[in-house]
Amino acid sequence: MNVTYADLKEKKILITGATRGIGKALALSLATQGAHVVFNFREGKEDAANSLKDELKSAGATNATALLFDITNTAQMKEALDAFISEHGAITGLVNNAGISKDQIVLRMKEEDVAQTIDTNLKGAIMLSQVLSRSFLKAEDVSVVNISSVVGLMGNASQIAYSASKAGLIGLTKSYAKELASRNIRCNAICPGFIQTDMTDSLNEKAKEAYLSQIPLNRFGDCQEVANLVSFLLSKASSYITGEVIKIDGGIYI
Ligand code: NDP
Repeated sequence: MNVTYADLKEKKILITGATRGIGKALALSLATQGAHVVFNFREGKEDAANSLKDELKSAGATNATALLFDITNTAQMKEALDAFISEHGAITGLVNNAGISKDQIVLRMKEEDVAQTIDTNLKGAIMLSQVLSRSFLKAEDVSVVNISSVVGLMGNASQIAYSASKAGLIGLTKSYAKELASRNIRCNAICPGFIQTDMTDSLNEKAKEAYLSQIPLNRFGDCQEVANLVSFLLSKASSYITGEVIKIDGGIYI
């Protein structure tokens, strides 16, 4: 079920990490709602970016723009976004979705994996929010959605750096919401539980069964279900909601 909001039509919405998984499902959902979908891609992934652009246009996007930047490279990010904004005007929706997980028990954690996880999941989102803030101030009805995780709330063994990065996104969300609410810029976080994507496909069957046994709804989540919640938070349908953290986890953390 693809829930749609009329006010997202022609809205310029940037989704990071839209080449796969939750980000891609969201990009396609926003395309069907007639948004101008903007997404980033990393060097060497030009072909995938071009085919996603075509897919989004066929799905109904007013426009689709692929920007070359790595979320951990602030200079590259700024250059790509400055060029986009001077050509198309302000972005009015941002979804900080790009993320990685490098799971390891505490005794085996490597410093470079911790740094990469924090740089991608947390620092990238903070810097992107900063890079776009000046243009947000000149725009109307801006909504930012940060994709945290239920483990940012409840913690998880073997996911210390990942959980810390996701808990950090909640701090970013609440602080950004407080700082910019007077300019009608909203910022919310969502905390997905176990959603079926490449990230979770990499888990072994035993780990999947263990997760499933803890989910009251007795199934894993679907990317479209997450896309529906993000669309709601991007649209004016949620105009009085800011600084909120919403779980979408089948009840795993009741
Ligand atoms: P995937 O692993 O399927 O996709 C991750 C996306 O992030 C890809 O598009 C990837 O691009 C992009 N990305 C990663 N690193 C960078 C970087 N340095 N610069 C730019 N893009 C980057 O992830 P999911 O769809 O499963 O997850 C999406 C978000 O949801 C993540 O933040 C994740 O932590 C969160 N989440 C997911 C859950 C789940 O169960 N799946 C549960 C809770 C939260 P590329 O194709 O170039 O690698």
